[in-house]
This record gives sequence, structure tokens and C-alpha cells, in this order.
Amino acid sequence: MDYARILAEIAEEVRPLVGQGRTADYIPPLADVPRDRFGMVLRTVGNEAYSVGHAQERFSIQSIAKVFSLTLATRLEGDAVWERVSREPSGTAFNSLVQLEVERGIPRNPFLNAGALVVLDMVLSHQREGEDLVLDFVRRAGANPAVGYDPVVAAAERATGHRNRALAHFLKSFGNLRNDPDRVLDAYFLLCSIAMSCSELASAFQYLATGGLAADGEEVATARQVKRVNAVMLTCGVYDEAGDYAYRVGLPAKSGVGGGVVAVMPGRFVTAVWSPCLSEKGNSLAGTMALELLTTKTALSVF
Ligand code: GLN
Repeated sequence: MDYARILAEIAEEVRPLVGQGRTADYIPPLADVPRDRFGMVLRTVGNEAYSVGHAQERFSIQSIAKVFSLTLATRLEGDAVWERVSREPSGTAFNSLVQLEVERGIPRNPFLNAGALVVLDMVLSHQREGEDLVLDFVRRAGANPAVGYDPVVAAAERATGHRNRALAHFLKSFGNLRNDPDRVLDAYFLLCSIAMSCSELASAFQYLATGGLAADGEEVATARQVKRVNAVMLTCGVYDEAGDYAYRVGLPAKSGVGGGVVAVMPGRFVTAVWSPCLSEKGNSLAGTMALELLTTKTALSVF
């Protein structure tokens, strides 16, 4: 497969879409990201990497980080994770409060903000003073100790995160947070602020294509855990656009409002794409088109 040529073609074909749509202006630093950015990396399970565009530029990975916290929680808690969070697509926005009231504080899935708060609460119950289990996991998964938080984005999340604060306290009122809501929120705002490039993301997600082996060969998840996480990405990874993604792209994927999307072709490759302008549903417009073109041109998808 000539991935280098395919990526070059994709970059050319998505160009008219780059800059269309809106950046996530409810988190101020995200609104200021240059609209003309487009980068893409494809990394095979054989450790070959192909890239095009702004593939080495770091951006705010936002909700993409929820995949790392979910994987870590399943390692720490096993199937008990699913007693406190469901695994069904929501059909509602990622920050919606409505379902949580009707479903008595059990979030529909771990990628909604409410679900991610519950997952982080589980992780925090295992975390000792001075530890940062999620960041350690991200660094190990990508064999990349340089990955960290963006303090400017984290501060903006803290300052503007009123809906997330509401969600955390709402969860607490249902008894579905064990820790103090402010501690969970602080971990959540940091989680959303992780900055990585497409290149770094493709390496850190390698374990989802290899049955659990990280970029340097370390086992960071079991094959069973990987199967589960990929399944939840396919059904819930892009929020209320999951059906359209399965139809157009056909790969487990996870997006963030920073404009990044990571998609996994188990046994073959991981791809990470970034372009900051979003669809109405909060997923990268050019990024989604790039993934659709990739699975069309390679004739590779989980279907
Ligand atoms: N930080 C964002 C929020 O909490 C993450 C949302 C996303 O990337 N979908 O609203």
C-alpha cells in the first residue's frame, strides 16, 4: 500500500474544507488556533510512519484523552467500570445534562463529559499523593516522556467549565463520584489540556492496533481490553455523529474539540488527523473527510 501517496492525495482533496466550520470558541485558547492547519499521520503496526501537513505541531487533544483514562480505568477496575457508566451511544451532545437526570446519574458512555468524570473518579481512587496515573499512562503508551499539559488551556477549562462543574456535582448528588467533585474536575480540566501532535498521538494509540503493545513494545493493555475500548470508540467516540462516522469512515475513532481525531484499523494501522474547524457536532470537518478518503482509497475499514 502506497500510504505516502495516499496521504498526499488526501491533503490535496480536503484543502477546500480546511478553515470551514468553527473552532471551539467556548474554550478561548482553542478559538485562537490558526484555522488553516491540517496535519495527518498514519502509523502501521510495523512502526512505519507517514505524514503530511502540520503533523508535528502540537494541539489540544481535548476529549481524545478520554481513551487513555478509560483504558487505564479498565486496567485498574476491570468490568466494575461498567457498573458506574454505560456503553451505549447517547444521541446527545457531549456536555448534555438531560440524560443524566433521567438515567439517575449513570452516564450513557465513558466519552461523554459526565462519563469521563466518573472514569477519572475511579482512577483517582487508586492514585496516591504526588502521582499522575493518567499522564504516566499516556507517556508509556507513546514511549514519550515529553508529553504534558498545556497550562493555558487548563486554566481556560477551569475558568469556563461551568457545565462540567454542574455535571460533576450532579453526579455526586446521585452518589456516582467517590472523590470530592473539585478534585475530579481538576483532573478533568488537566486531562482535556494535554497537548500532542498527530505524530505523537499516532504513536500513543499504537496499542489499540497491536492488541495492547505500546510503541516500544511494552504491554499497556490486554487484547481483551483493546477489543472493548475499540468497540466503545466505534459506537460512542464521536458523540452524536457516531452513526455517520461508521457509515462514512468505518473505523473506531475518537475526536476532540481541538480538531484532532484518531482512528484505528486493528492489526494494520493508527491514523491521527488534525484540523481545528469543527462540524456542528464538534468533530473536525476536514479531519472527518480525510478519514473517509483514507478508508475509501485503501479499501480498509472494519467493515
Ligand atoms: N474540554 C472539553 C469540554 O469539557 C472537551 C470536549 C470535547 O473535546 N468533546 O467540554
